[in-house]
Amino acid sequence: MSGVRARRAPASALSQDATRTLSQAIVAGLRCACPRCGRGKLFQGFLSLRPRCEVCGLDYGFADSGDGPAVFIVLLGGAIVVGAALITEIEFQPPYWLHAVLWLPLILIVTLGPLRPMKGLMIALQFHHKAAEGRVYDIDRP
Ligand SMILES: [Zn+2]
Repeated sequence: MSGVRARRAPASALSQDATRTLSQAIVAGLRCACPRCGRGKLFQGFLSLRPRCEVCGLDYGFADSGDGPAVFIVLLGGAIVVGAALITEIEFQPPYWLHAVLWLPLILIVTLGPLRPMKGLMIALQFHHKAAEGRVYDIDRP
């Protein structure tokens, strides 16, 4: 039987410096800092990554948080804003224009504000746990 199976690829870029603790990785991610050294900057724009760390040289090519940060932010921010709007409507029945004045800025604050730290956190956790895409290898080949 042919031995083509899927298994996790060795992540050489991710296997460096496994001595960092999970709490250090979380702090570095929330500070938008390099997941390996914790000192270099992770972003060069609002959400675009630098090619590599300017302090330790870690190549950020491994980093792919996808839509993960946006999903968490939308779910959490949506719960906060919708909950606040429902409570306000039930308690005070304000006019609709007041709802718009209250909740539209809050939506921007609770979604755009934490987006960058959340992306940094997910990349730091990806680095810490050495998470990478699965690869298909033929185990019959040397
Ligand atoms: Zn670094």
